[in-house]
Amino acid sequence: MKSVYLTIDDSPSLQFKKKMEYLYSKNIPAVFFCIGNLMEQNFPVLVEAIHKGFYIANHSYTHPAFSTIDLKQAKYEIEKTDELIEKLYQTANVLRPAKWFRFPYGDKGDLKRGFVFNRFKKSDKNRKETIQSYLRDLGYEQPAFEGVTYNFMRKHHLFSDIDWSWSFDVAEWALQEKKPTMGLNSEEKIIDRLNQKRPKDCRGFLGFEKRWISSTSEELLLLHDHEKTSSFFPKIIDELQKLPVQFLDFTSFLKN
Ligand SMILES: [Zn+2]
Repeated sequence: MKSVYLTIDDSPSLQFKKKMEYLYSKNIPAVFFCIGNLMEQNFPVLVEAIHKGFYIANHSYTHPAFSTIDLKQAKYEIEKTDELIEKLYQTANVLRPAKWFRFPYGDKGDLKRGFVFNRFKKSDKNRKETIQSYLRDLGYEQPAFEGVTYNFMRKHHLFSDIDWSWSFDVAEWALQEKKPTMGLNSEEKIIDRLNQKRPKDCRGFLGFEKRWISSTSEELLLLHDHEKTSSFFPKIIDELQKLPVQFLDFTSFLKN
């Protein structure tokens, strides 16, 4: 049995409610990393999600690649959505349980553009640390995820940073691309990848460690709440449950 934390990025889409209710019906805990300007358009469904026990986290305001924006804008992206989430929990009349952040494209603003495992890309450590300090000052944190034991994640300090990482990307987002990443141009290929022992990862070279389904490590799983892959969403969840995958809850990481 594979143990997995489910995290979903780019919420809330117009199909958010359906996905959220599907997960609820299956009793699957999830964190939704939300884009601020989408939150403003879909506030009530997010309140509902909170009442159903899901967690709402920060995924910036306009979803930029942080390596391409200046530091002032980076601070704004973080703070603006932080305020929206604060307002959301107040509206829901629920104490905000934690402050969690994930960068769009996994781009920490260090000029590596999210290719964290690519040792040939130069990293601007000062820039990265400045943006990390914006998160730290607001009280953001990433749990230690001690059950996620991959060396490649430890080696690249992905758990010592404030922002949340992921260990397995379902990569269903590739279906929306004109030239799909890693040749993932059909739902079958995405499902097939779930069954592979060492699927490719688009963040760069991963070494020879056992991966995904053959590893004993827990996983931080990444899915997306995109319009175009909405009808595929329940199928992915069903396929994961066939594997079988056990979805872990986040309660041990909460403050309140
Ligand atoms: Zn995103």
